[in-house]
Amino acid sequence: MNGRTAEGGRQKADHPAPSAISIQPSAVWDALASVPDPEIPVVSITDMGMVRDVTVGDAGRVTVTFTPTFSGCPALHVIRESIEQAVRDLGVADVEVRSTLTPPWTTDWIGDDARERLRQYGIAPPAPTGEGQLIQLDAEPTRCPRCGSLNVRMTASFGPTLCKRMYVCDSCREPFEGFKSV
Ligand SMILES: [Zn+2]
Repeated sequence: MNGRTAEGGRQKADHPAPSAISIQPSAVWDALASVPDPEIPVVSITDMGMVRDVTVGDAGRVTVTFTPTFSGCPALHVIRESIEQAVRDLGVADVEVRSTLTPPWTTDWIGDDARERLRQYGIAPPAPTGEGQLIQLDAEPTRCPRCGSLNVRMTASFGPTLCKRMYVCDSCREPFEGFKSV
């Protein structure tokens, strides 16, 4: 090679070289949509409503702000690393992952589609919290994800993680996990 390029031109010396890829926030959202929840692999972190904000700075820095589902969940660092890796996989070199607890995560942020997948996975999706309603009508009761029976009872306040409760179905006798509504 003779060291010359076809471009011939030079970058202005007082301006940083543009990043190789001009990333759009929507591309970052798309990438994050394929990051699974570390505890429930059938749903992604965007399904769960954890990703609150994506910004792309002038210098190409991508900042992702997320809210962990429950402060008691042990997977916080896993989520943080997964987010960072997903953005790096887009060719972004400068990634900042921030977590925020304000406002706190609520099960209301879980998408409808994700609720259905939770149910198919065997986890009873959370009932709406009813926040903001003057009168809470028809709060969705916990239903057995296997047989659909409402004849269930809670057996423990805390499941394998602080996120979930353990139930048993009195119709089909199967134990199952349910989300706490928060
Ligand atoms: Zn059942």
